[in-house]
Amino acid sequence: MAWIGGEVVDNILIACDDSGIILKVTSSAEAPSTATLLDGLTFPGFANTHSHAFHRALRGRGVGDTFWEWRRKMYEVAEQLNPESYRTLATAVFAEMALAGFTLVGEFHYLHHQPGGKPYDEPNAMGIALVEAAQAAGVRLTLLDTCYLQGGIDRALEPPQRRFADGDVNAWIERRAELRGDPTTLVGAAIHSVRAVPRAALAQVAESTRDAPLHIHLSEQRAENEQALAVYGLSPTALLAKEGVLAQNLTAVHATHLESDDIESLAANGASVCACPTTEADLGDGIGPFAALAAAGVELAIGTDQHVLVDPFYEAQRLEFDQRLASSRRSIFSSKRLVDALSSAGYRALGWNQGGRIAEGALCDLTSVRVDSVRLAGVPPSQLPFALTAGDVDTVVVGGRVIVQNSEHLGLPMLARDLREEIVALFP
Ligand SMILES: [Zn+2]
Repeated sequence: MAWIGGEVVDNILIACDDSGIILKVTSSAEAPSTATLLDGLTFPGFANTHSHAFHRALRGRGVGDTFWEWRRKMYEVAEQLNPESYRTLATAVFAEMALAGFTLVGEFHYLHHQPGGKPYDEPNAMGIALVEAAQAAGVRLTLLDTCYLQGGIDRALEPPQRRFADGDVNAWIERRAELRGDPTTLVGAAIHSVRAVPRAALAQVAESTRDAPLHIHLSEQRAENEQALAVYGLSPTALLAKEGVLAQNLTAVHATHLESDDIESLAANGASVCACPTTEADLGDGIGPFAALAAAGVELAIGTDQHVLVDPFYEAQRLEFDQRLASSRRSIFSSKRLVDALSSAGYRALGWNQGGRIAEGALCDLTSVRVDSVRLAGVPPSQLPFALTAGDVDTVVVGGRVIVQNSEHLGLPMLARDLREEIVALFP
């Protein structure tokens, strides 16, 4: 079965050319002997639209009562990484994503320099480590190289934040300009937040990134809204609108604490939103107004962000279930809307407009799940997105190449050991 345009269709044959593009999608009970059998249900590949690979090391270890305490712990991990350890850790994290059914990851990358802030001999050494990690794991990557210039609104950088900063916006533009894409890598950009980039630099970042996906942490915590209001007299969304950052290439991550004006402004400017339901729950951020955003016409994508777990289906289910809890209503997002958030919306938010669907001319990125388990018995195929888990993923294809088969990563058999060793080394 294949998930095509929101419908489940039986006996589908997908033909792909050597460059990884779908040539033809036909209904056929007979496949050539060279074909790969994708048993069960095949979805267009899923996009993990918001990731910080190194946060994975904090799974089960990010204790503390508030977001800000968690952030201090996260800085301790950030301080220890170098290009080599980052490459190893990120390779395992991206492979974990592949096993869970993600074919594309948007890595919101701000860990740029040496501890203390001095650039490496290769100023993009950490970004290049992420590119190599995605290639080793077999997934597509949009490297969202992040501008980070200050420790908070009108505040100097704290020592652990010096690694994140380029000094000024021109230095960030120059360093980012040296990054190169390739057939599976796209170079995007990000503004860390209105906390970390001064108002005077926002328009310049937007100007220099008009032709690339641009992401931002928008309004994750109430405190950052309060600070923006106190200093600028504007919400973070209103500030971005004034500075010309709100545009079709913008994806707002953590659109959690928004007023109705903010929602209208995001919609009117064609910006997308990326929800990160498990992270927003784990960090106690709050439940974003995703039903209202969707009703206003804002496209929603999904990310696992700090990787409290990596499961596209669970994130999508939380998107729906959290809205039910917040509204005392049911059936807010259909299974088609949830799959669109995971596939076409995520691919668009990350600049891969040719992906996220099973159709002629699309990228041949596919995620197949087994549907013969006891747990899934009797579930109508159209409702499977509400019942599946990452553990059901059997085969994953990126650009026509099989990277996961029988729920095993073909390139990285020692995955679990590598991941455990790298993480334990970070916590002496
Ligand atoms: Zn984030």
